[in-house]
Amino acid sequence: MRPFVYERPTSVSAAVAMASHAGAGHVPPTAADTQFIAGGTNLADYMKLGVGRPDRLLDLNTLAEPALRKIRTSDDAIRFGALVRMGEAADNDDVRRRCPLLADSLKLAASGQLRNMATLGGNVLQRTRCEYFRETSWPCNKREPGSGCAAMEGVNRQHAVLGTSDSCIATYHGDFAQALIALDATVDIEGRRGKRTLAFAKLHRLPGETPNIETDLAADEIITAIEVPLRPWSGRSRYLKIRDRESYAFALASAAVALDMEGQTVRSVRIGLGGVATVPWRAVAAEDALQGKVLDEAAAQKAADAAFADARPREHNAFKIPLGKRTLVRALLETRDMKV
Ligand SMILES: Cc1cc2nc3c(=O)[nH]c(=O)nc-3n(C[C@H](O)[C@H](O)[C@H](O)COP(=O)(O)OP(=O)(O)OC[C@H]3O[C@@H](n4cnc5c(N)ncnc54)[C@H](O)[C@@H]3O)c2cc1C
Ligand code: SF4
Repeated sequence: MRPFVYERPTSVSAAVAMASHAGAGHVPPTAADTQFIAGGTNLADYMKLGVGRPDRLLDLNTLAEPALRKIRTSDDAIRFGALVRMGEAADNDDVRRRCPLLADSLKLAASGQLRNMATLGGNVLQRTRCEYFRETSWPCNKREPGSGCAAMEGVNRQHAVLGTSDSCIATYHGDFAQALIALDATVDIEGRRGKRTLAFAKLHRLPGETPNIETDLAADEIITAIEVPLRPWSGRSRYLKIRDRESYAFALASAAVALDMEGQTVRSVRIGLGGVATVPWRAVAAEDALQGKVLDEAAAQKAADAAFADARPREHNAFKIPLGKRTLVRALLETRDMKV
């Protein structure tokens, strides 16, 4: 590992000031000299691999603001401080009861030890597990812009079929983010230019020609909170994750579903898809296909076909299209049948 400076700011404003310098707005956070570290389960891993190369780390764990570590629920929303640990959020009774999808998506991620260390802010910003991104001897447009993409003609079984570009087909592997995008979450951000609230759907960027720019964040911006509105569909919600082994593995395909039903008819539905796309993926066409329909197997299948209509498979990952569809159909029917 390369040498780096480690510092412990004591407030969000101090951390932002320490991360702010003339060039900070012009490089993606993941390429900046100074980077934030929270649980370190993603960043430290990538620093060891030589993929992350910051000269200076600012530890967010020493920030004093209590709200960063709190989960607050009201009638309208659940609000998570960015430093809340995944495990704490997954086990929170209010979260489990009022929006099971959120708790499930966290519980099915990583391992108990990792969930105790990893934060929600860090979780949504985790970087891809693309093998060619992680191993620095391969060409990779995300790690080294303009160098090419070894995955295009390589072993791309884990890679995405939705939201890909000719520059990058890396999957976004997180689970919690699929719940957040389905549920219209927002993120609170603080940086040199002040505070802002962003729709979670706008946080991650499609790879396009610049897969190295992964989010809308500037290098001096900190996520301080994530807020999930509570709506009629929140209680009837679940996360289905399909993987190579039943625990401690990333999704091959997953579906985050929240349903508001009137009898057997869909009043409103929210759908996120994981394991199959380059960014957290909202399946809007599938939602539209279900609106006002009786939710039976045929309707769920039609919605799943709509969700994957634009999918673009590569040599080794075409199986993700039928798998993704089956995952969504099952998740829809299981969510419909939940006792709420
Ligand atoms: C073996 C293994 C298995 C895993 N399995 C899964 C899985 O099945 N599902 C899943 O979803 N995840 C999985 N993960 C990923 C894991 O959930 C993430 O590593 C973790 O959530 C990252 O959180 P962290 O706090 O450790 O982030 P860090 O590693 O500290 O940071 C990650 C990134 O976010 C930035 N950052 C952190 N916090 C903030 C903030 N508040 N504001 C701005 N920038 C910030 C950092 O600068 C860094 O770029 C796995 C990880 C491992 C190692
Ligand atoms: S898929 Fe993306 S991350 Fe993987 S090698 Fe290609 S450019 Fe890099």
